[in-house]
Amino acid sequence: MKAKEEYSLFEDVSKVVDDAARHMDIHPGLLEQIKQCNSIYKFSFPLKNGDGTYEVLSGYRVQHSHHKLPVKGGIRYSSFVNEEEVKGLAALMTYKCALVNIPYGGAKGGVRIDPNNYNVDQLEKITRRYTAELIKKKFIGPAIDVPAPDYGTSSREMAWIVDTFEAFNPDVINAKGCVTGKPLSQHGIEGRTEATGMGVFIGIREAVSVKEDMDALGLKVGLKGKKIIIQGLGNVGYYTAKYLSESGAKIIGIAEYNGGIWDENGIDIEKIKAYQIKNKTFQGYDKGDFIEDGNSLLIRPCDILIPAALENQITAENAHDIKAKIIGEAANGPVTQDANNILLEKGIMIIPDMYLNAGGVTVSYFEWLKNLSRVSFGKLEKRYDMKKYEELLEGIEKATGDSFSEEQKRIIIKGASERDLVNSGLEETMVTAYHHMNGVRKEKGIKDLRTAGFIVALERIAISYTDMGIFP
Ligand code: GLU
Repeated sequence: MKAKEEYSLFEDVSKVVDDAARHMDIHPGLLEQIKQCNSIYKFSFPLKNGDGTYEVLSGYRVQHSHHKLPVKGGIRYSSFVNEEEVKGLAALMTYKCALVNIPYGGAKGGVRIDPNNYNVDQLEKITRRYTAELIKKKFIGPAIDVPAPDYGTSSREMAWIVDTFEAFNPDVINAKGCVTGKPLSQHGIEGRTEATGMGVFIGIREAVSVKEDMDALGLKVGLKGKKIIIQGLGNVGYYTAKYLSESGAKIIGIAEYNGGIWDENGIDIEKIKAYQIKNKTFQGYDKGDFIEDGNSLLIRPCDILIPAALENQITAENAHDIKAKIIGEAANGPVTQDANNILLEKGIMIIPDMYLNAGGVTVSYFEWLKNLSRVSFGKLEKRYDMKKYEELLEGIEKATGDSFSEEQKRIIIKGASERDLVNSGLEETMVTAYHHMNGVRKEKGIKDLRTAGFIVALERIAISYTDMGIFP
């Protein structure tokens, strides 16, 4: 999974914004204001190792748009992190939040390290020092800028961030809301870990539910039997694959940077994930074929291809060879603009990143609200006797002709848990945004969902900036 140095994600995102703006009546000055990054913080800091050696690391935090505060976006640890990447990812966060109507500006941060080369102690030092740098410059805080996990980070790093923030800011009220994606013990929220993958699943499910669009692709409606290839079995890829296969889709290929696995009969996601955790590779797995060049799987035939790793994976070089009918961008920026145009020419449907992976930030928003309000969401499960009440519900079913699922019965009788509320909010957000975006695509006679998604986002941001006025 290479990210070429000369490639600029920020330029690519800006190009799409320009494309979308051509379908709108937007003042060129306002468009320029929207496109630029408001604040860029680039810094170096040393890491001292126990053996006396030390190295100097590069850290970044970019706040793309202050049209809504706080700004929001993950922190990435990868050896590909650079200013253009962080700027592009921050910009994507702005458009993503606007599309799903979450009231944040966009931001992103990163440290240029391969986390696999550091032990837990070193990662903790790096994370705490990175946080201290953000605190010094006021680039973090529940009302300012709220990081979250991204590629190479997880709830573990978020716990270190909140602890460091609180140590330096004893007077900040609701300090727990300075970062999301925290462990449950540190005021995280149920379902945040699964949220991005669950959102990807819901988005793809909605896309394949529209008969007219599936007819155009020559595909049947629904997930059942759909053949899927996924790139990356990290947090996002794993949960995406899990929910898709639980709904009857067949995962036939998984590409990783150190080799892929291929099985036309369908891959058992739990088993392959357990194997990968244990062995750090798919090599030696007892089912299917191990493919040394994992990325060669991207061009094999399938119904849906899901890049769930890094940006710049489907480029002008391999786009002509893609055989999937649908590409679901679970990663941020996996398809370059050049490749995007080639794929659209080929009649491939692309479900864009700014929509498809928005489940993560959506549930981050719920976590942040929970931290600000200092309450736990959901009722405590009531100790009702299910049996007694089930009879009552059966009566209602008979009288109304409605039928309740087991899950619905539990919620009606015992009350919704935090996870129920999170999942239903996520579902509602993803379903509404998909049909809004697809509706705009059809209404404007546009070929692709990405341009339509950017139109929806730009309209919302433009209104916000216009109503706000310009200071002074
Ligand atoms: N890193 C995730 C993203 O790219 C989540 C960001 C967040 O929750 O703030 O959308």
